[in-house]
Amino acid sequence: MTEPVRHRPDAVARRGLILILSSPSGAGKTTLTRAIAQDGGWGLDLSISVTTRARRPSEIDGKHYHFIEREAFEDLRARDDLLEWAEVHGNFYGTPRRPVERVLAAGRDMIFDIDYQGTRQVRSKLTDDVVTVFILPPSMAELRQRLERRAEDSQATIEKRLQNARHEIQRWSEYDYVIVNDDLQNAFTALQSILTAERLRRTRRTGLEGFVEGILAEGQGG
Ligand code: 5GP
Repeated sequence: MTEPVRHRPDAVARRGLILILSSPSGAGKTTLTRAIAQDGGWGLDLSISVTTRARRPSEIDGKHYHFIEREAFEDLRARDDLLEWAEVHGNFYGTPRRPVERVLAAGRDMIFDIDYQGTRQVRSKLTDDVVTVFILPPSMAELRQRLERRAEDSQATIEKRLQNARHEIQRWSEYDYVIVNDDLQNAFTALQSILTAERLRRTRRTGLEGFVEGILAEGQGG
């Protein structure tokens, strides 16, 4: 008895994609970004930004951000070493260009935790490969509570972040997907679903024609 023919859809290649998450501080975006990047099964590389902001006690240099001086930031910007950059809450943030180029060239996917200004810049440079997700808090009251519970920022910083949150929330309609994070597990499931669906998008998959031809040629004497 002959073995049945097996076509391998997993052999079909796919272009790398860039998944961008944005939200006001405290809406849970950083937790979600890290959760999906740390789950090796998703095969996502996390983009580590540079920032001139002071390190919070819980943060590790090189893991959460590369904490740099303003002069060093200006140098990177002048040398065009940043894929995008923005001033947020009075500090500078930027995405180092080279790691992104390396990941995409290797056909892998990358996840970014950046604001709407950076999202616009990345989208304008890498159009087809960018998928954007906006995370909304369930309410402003909940957002305030989360920032206060985190207790890593001064009261003045928290007030500034809340003011900025109103401004940032108004950008929600520029994004492809919106998740309301009232339950972290549900929000995580939603994010995984978005990634799964985007990876299956026909336009991202190369070599499908050959796979389909293989199926159609079956039993045709070929
Ligand atoms: P935080 O100071 O709370 O870590 O981040 C403040 C804001 O800066 C967040 O909205 C975060 O997404 C954004 N951000 C972090 N890194 C970057 C970056 O490299 N580029 C841009 N444009 N925004 C960033």
